[in-house]
Amino acid sequence: MFGSCNMDLVAYVGTAPKRGETVLGREFRTAPGGKGANQAVAAARAGAEALMIGAVGEDELGGGLREALRGFGVDTRGLRTVPGNSGTAHIVVDDDGGNAIVVVPGANATVDSLAPGDAELIASSGALLLQLEIPFAGVESAAAAGRSAGVPVILTPAPAAELSAELLANVDVLVPNEHEAAVLTGRDDPDAALRELVERVPEAIITLGAEGALYGNAAGEVVRSPAHRVRAVDTTAAGDTFVGVFAAARARGAEVREALAAASAASALAVGRHGAMSSMPTEQEIREFRG
Ligand code: ATP
Repeated sequence: MFGSCNMDLVAYVGTAPKRGETVLGREFRTAPGGKGANQAVAAARAGAEALMIGAVGEDELGGGLREALRGFGVDTRGLRTVPGNSGTAHIVVDDDGGNAIVVVPGANATVDSLAPGDAELIASSGALLLQLEIPFAGVESAAAAGRSAGVPVILTPAPAAELSAELLANVDVLVPNEHEAAVLTGRDDPDAALRELVERVPEAIITLGAEGALYGNAAGEVVRSPAHRVRAVDTTAAGDTFVGVFAAARARGAEVREALAAASAASALAVGRHGAMSSMPTEQEIREFRG
């Protein structure tokens, strides 16, 4: 994992406020998060050896983030402590389980290049996971290091943004949600978006929330992965759970359909529970859920 670490500051409300409106929340929780850290924890919980490269601030949140990652079984050798604030994510979760998020990057903004030793850590990995919550320059240099070491590079293009041809050239699997896929391709129809994406990268997966996920590759194969029917109480990190578990499965050599099935089961379990990392299932829970 080469990516972001945030402390999530989560407010639970009946209905999320509109612009200019103030609403009374029901509950407040803090929880470690950030797309990078979330995906690392999802992979670790699913049985992979997960190693996090990134940065936290010198503030008290930074120490908490490092401890939390270790507690979830993530190797923090690549996590630097830098001056200033840690990254924070301000999340509003409504009664339908939907969420709205503001991310303030903090220390994540310093992860704009490889630090000494990072290339070796990347080269020793079974897969490299990337997202866009750190500077593009950092994402690009990590992807290039992954490609030159022959490590599969899996990119979640979130928050939604257009991607440089230079970055895409080093990506093996692109995993946008429906909104991010539309931003990348200009197509609202997921099937049409998928066709465009696999012209740019060897494999792509568009996650479709309760509708499941759509996989495609450059050879023209398409796999529709259904979602499990569950009662969603908090969809925070559903996508991160999906990607982390998919990557963990692929890194240990699983076929695409098996990796998709494990990811779908894990994210269904995660949306049925509150929180981000704390909602992610263990390897055994995923196995039992799949029956
Ligand atoms: P988030 O930003 O909340 O982490 P996302 O937008 O990146 O999520 P989604 O497409 O919403 O990702 O969800 C990822 C995967 O999680 C889906 O492909 C699906 O397998 C599972 N999932 C999401 N919502 C539900 C749900 N309500 N019921 C069952 N599975 C779900």
